[in-house]
Amino acid sequence: MRKSKPTTHKHRTMSSSSTSENQNPPQLRKDPIWNRWVIFSPARSKRPSDFKSKSSSNPNPTTNCPFCIGNEHQCAPEIFRVPSEDPNWKIRVIQNLFPALSRELDDPVDGASGSVLDGFGFHDVVIETPVHSVQLCDLEREEIGEVFVAYTRRIQQLVDRHSIKYVQVFKNHGAAAGASMSHSHSQMIALPVIPPSVSARLGSMKDFFDQTGKCCICEIQRENLLIDSSTYFFSLVPYAASFPFEIWIVPRYHSAHFHELDAEKAIDLGGLLKQMLNKISLQLNDPPFNFMIHTSPLHGNESELAYTHWFIQIVPQLVGTAGFELATGCYINPVFPEDAAKVLREVNVSESG
Ligand code: AMP
Ligand code: ZN
Ligand code: ZN
Repeated sequence: MRKSKPTTHKHRTMSSSSTSENQNPPQLRKDPIWNRWVIFSPARSKRPSDFKSKSSSNPNPTTNCPFCIGNEHQCAPEIFRVPSEDPNWKIRVIQNLFPALSRELDDPVDGASGSVLDGFGFHDVVIETPVHSVQLCDLEREEIGEVFVAYTRRIQQLVDRHSIKYVQVFKNHGAAAGASMSHSHSQMIALPVIPPSVSARLGSMKDFFDQTGKCCICEIQRENLLIDSSTYFFSLVPYAASFPFEIWIVPRYHSAHFHELDAEKAIDLGGLLKQMLNKISLQLNDPPFNFMIHTSPLHGNESELAYTHWFIQIVPQLVGTAGFELATGCYINPVFPEDAAKVLREVNVSESG
């Protein structure tokens, strides 16, 4: 039974009694990566228990799940599996049965202008484990590393398609995070255009580079915001986080393209992702979450390589996106990033989870 107040956007409307308890007045911070303002408006309470998730829902229980081993015939065609041709597979990359874009259409003509394009593209599903009850954070760091390697392998296949401009890798976990299937999986959508948030990010990183001669992610502010680090990566709550308890995992080395990740770094990344997922699970009651890999366009110009730097954004779904955010593109975050970082830094999770 959960006694904590359900987390809804209602906490943004503060009562007078709660206001008096808050030590921090609201503050606006400019996010330098997407070049947008975030409003930090302290919640009624800053204890993590007030943000514990109401549910980690299971939208599609075990019975007759097409992603389970043995049910491969219920799925759209396979692209590859790991290990290849093994009936006891560990990972499968398959076509999405209900794709957002169609791989059957002709590639759009390069340089096509105007405001309409045929919906050409690729929408794949990555089944991360053969076993229904196993979640990504239950896997060993090496196994999560293999999932990352599967993403890079699929992106490398798509690099040859010149009409594909950008590949978005993302994971929805839990119904409130948009998942319709509970079997652990992630998705990849390869697009014939560069999406607006990606263009905004590239433009903002370019401005920073033009002004300072440096990559803004290499220079990212870490003081009081760091959660953990590994050989090749660190995790932090960004200074202008749009969402409460948002986490970024960032390569310590400068790299524009996620798909250049090698197997050794993938295992290291797997270990840090596992730790971060276990931390949010422990502190926030196994919340629904999304993660997104923010990388650079496939065929960008040479100069982009100097100022773009990939990273992973993990967003626990604790507050909804409502009218104000839709209208303004400005997010309201009730938790200051340094407070969230402290909470996440201090919870201990063992390597084995
Ligand atoms: P999500 O909705 O985020 O849980 O992602 C699950 C994805 O799997 C959806 O985009 C579905 O279209 C897709 N999907 C559902 N059933 C199948 C299936 N049998 N074969 C391939 N893809 C599927
Ligand atoms: Zn299943
Ligand atoms: Zn960098």
